[in-house]
Amino acid sequence: MGNTSLERRYTPLIILLLVAALVATLGFWAADRAAVKRGDGAIGAASAREHFQWKMITTWPKNFPGLGMAAENFADLVEVMSDGRLTVHVYGAGELVPAMEVFDAVSQGVVDAGHGAAYYWKGKVPSSVFFTSIPFGLNAQEMNGWLHYGGGLELWQEAYAPYNLVPMAGGSTGVQMAGWFNREINSIEDLKGLKMRIPGLAGEVFSAAGGTAVTIPGGELYTSIQTGVIDALEWVGPYNDQAFGFQEVARYYYYPGWHEPGSILEFVVNKDSLEALPEDLQAIVVTASRAANQDMLDEYTARNNAALQSLVDEHGVQLRRLPDDVMRALWKGTQQAMKRLVESDPMAAKVYESYRKFYRGVRNYHHISEQAYINARDKAMGDEEL
Ligand code: CA
Repeated sequence: MGNTSLERRYTPLIILLLVAALVATLGFWAADRAAVKRGDGAIGAASAREHFQWKMITTWPKNFPGLGMAAENFADLVEVMSDGRLTVHVYGAGELVPAMEVFDAVSQGVVDAGHGAAYYWKGKVPSSVFFTSIPFGLNAQEMNGWLHYGGGLELWQEAYAPYNLVPMAGGSTGVQMAGWFNREINSIEDLKGLKMRIPGLAGEVFSAAGGTAVTIPGGELYTSIQTGVIDALEWVGPYNDQAFGFQEVARYYYYPGWHEPGSILEFVVNKDSLEALPEDLQAIVVTASRAANQDMLDEYTARNNAALQSLVDEHGVQLRRLPDDVMRALWKGTQQAMKRLVESDPMAAKVYESYRKFYRGVRNYHHISEQAYINARDKAMGDEEL
C-alpha cells in the first residue's frame, strides 16, 4: 500500500469512520423497522407492509440435493431479506405441472416463477442452449463472467422477452461428467446404436455420431436405464448422480463432460409478477438469485470429489476417460451442429457472436492463468501432497 507511516496515522481514523457508518446504518434500520411496526407512515411504510406470496415450480424432485436446493435457498433468502414481505413456496416437478412444462406455466402466469435449465426449451427458443451450456463451451467461471459482465444476461433477457419471462442465472454445476454407460466406449463406433439421455445441442451431436439422444426429466432416469429404455445417461456429476443411485444400474462412469463444461441453471420469473413488486423486493429477488447461483458451484466443488471417491471405492464404479479420438469426433460434430443452429435462428446467431467473442478472449487468458497454473502445479508437485 505504499507509505506505511501514513497508513499508521490514518488507520485509527478509518476504523472510527467505519464504526460510525455502521452505527448510523443500524440506527436508520432500527428506526425504519420501528416505524413500519407502529404503522406511522415513515419511510414508505405503506408499500413496506404489503405482503407478496409467490409460487415457484421446478424441473427437479422436491428438495433434491444439489440442483434442487437452489430454489429452496432462493426462497429462504428472499423471505429473510424481505423480513417476510415476499414468501416463495417451492413445488417439485409434477406437484403443480410436469417438469417439462415449467417454461410455459411461468410464461402464462399460472405461477410466478420457475427453476430449471434453459436448454430444456431449445425447441421453443433455439438460442437457449447458450445460456445453459454448449459442448466444448465456457466453463463455470467463464459462463458467470460472460453472463454478468460480457453481455450474456442481456441477450438471455432479450430471448425470453417475447414469453413475458425474466431469466436469471440459477446455479452452476461446474464441469459435468460425460455420463453413465452400460458398455465401454473405446472408439466413436461404440456410440452407434446407443440410446442416451443427453439434452441440448450435445444431444444433436450425439445423434449425428450414430447414437439416439433423448431428453428425460431427472426423476425418471433411474428406472429408464434400469429397464433398458436407455443404454446411457448423463445427469450432472458425482454428488448429484450418487444421490440418484445410478451406481446401482450402470457400470462405467465416463469423464470429462465435453457436452456440459459449465452448466448454468435458470430462475425464470413472470415479468408481471416481478414488476408488481416494489423496487426493494425486486432487488432482493435479483440478489437472492445471484447468491443461490454462486452457492451451488461452491457446494459441488466441496462435495463432488468425496462422492467420486465413494462411488469408486465403495460401489465399484469403473471410472473411464473418453478417448482423444472420440473427443475429436464429438468436436467435429459440435462444429456442424453449431453451424446448423446459427443458420436456422437469427437470435441464436446473435447470441453466438457475443459468446464466441467472449470465448476467444477468455480462452487466451486462461491459457496463461487457470490452465497454466493447474498444469504448473501438477508438474511442480508430481505425486507429492500439500
Ligand atoms: Ca447434464
